[in-house]
Amino acid sequence: MSSTKSDNWGDRPAVPLPLAGPGQVPCCDQCKRQGSTETLKRCGGCSTMLYCSKECQKAAWTSHKTLCRRPRGNANPSPINVAKMVGDWILVHTETFEALLNTTVYLGGGVAHALSEPRGIVCRLNMRNDWNGNPAAPFHLVSFLLEHRDEAEILGDQWDGLMESRKKAEGPFKVAETPEIAGIIPIVFSIRDNGSNFVVNNYFPVNHTRLADDTALDPRTRVALFGLNVHCKRCLDGGLVYHTVKKPGGDGMGMDLGRYGKKGKKGKKWKWEMRTPGDPEFMEMRLQNTALTGGMTVPETWKVYNEL
Ligand SMILES: [Zn+2]
Ligand SMILES: [Zn+2]
Repeated sequence: MSSTKSDNWGDRPAVPLPLAGPGQVPCCDQCKRQGSTETLKRCGGCSTMLYCSKECQKAAWTSHKTLCRRPRGNANPSPINVAKMVGDWILVHTETFEALLNTTVYLGGGVAHALSEPRGIVCRLNMRNDWNGNPAAPFHLVSFLLEHRDEAEILGDQWDGLMESRKKAEGPFKVAETPEIAGIIPIVFSIRDNGSNFVVNNYFPVNHTRLADDTALDPRTRVALFGLNVHCKRCLDGGLVYHTVKKPGGDGMGMDLGRYGKKGKKGKKWKWEMRTPGDPEFMEMRLQNTALTGGMTVPETWKVYNEL
């Protein structure tokens, strides 16, 4: 069948992404009582939502069932499973995701422009057909764009819900106590899977630059940020993961690029592994980057970004 479904992004309920971050305490989905993953019971349907009691689970079911269950006769995951996949994916790619978001903002008109409502990020993803459970690579990244609510239909559709959850989203990022954070920006993930569309909403922090006017980037900075932006998209799309490692010679910490694989005798858990020397995808990426930036290497583009 060669049917191309219309862009009906709203046919699944939008799931607010469980916010990951320091200081996040597991709590009951219904009464919000805090606990641990031992004291709270996991929903048997989606194995994601936590409840303190049978009563709370019962009370939550009316609204939770649409997110928890797979549609009848459909092999696709449930919306809440997809939300968890997105959350795990971002957590694994924290540095890359943050750099992609910030470079998109800096290249797209600067911090003040991006945070002036009604703007947000729209991230379109395709589920990988051959997904093997690797948390670093469940999706292909189709696009990642800074959009105005009136220009991007999906952002317009989600706007009211996003604004409702705004206050709740600020807490985990400690916006008030973190001077480098300029504000939080709404992000809508639109995920396609065999004709199904999932929508996951969240917020992410945007960092200040040290520039007085970040709308006027000098040409070298602009080209470096563009190179890094493309590099980050490629890493997210291909499951290439940055990991903080001790540099040989005891010269502090650095970031290195690798992939997730199953290590150890039992091979049950996904763990970061350093890329093999001469990894073809990495070599090609490096060439692509220097071509895009007129000779700047990937670490050089990171340096420009980190010093901004
Ligand atoms: Zn409860
Ligand atoms: Zn459930």
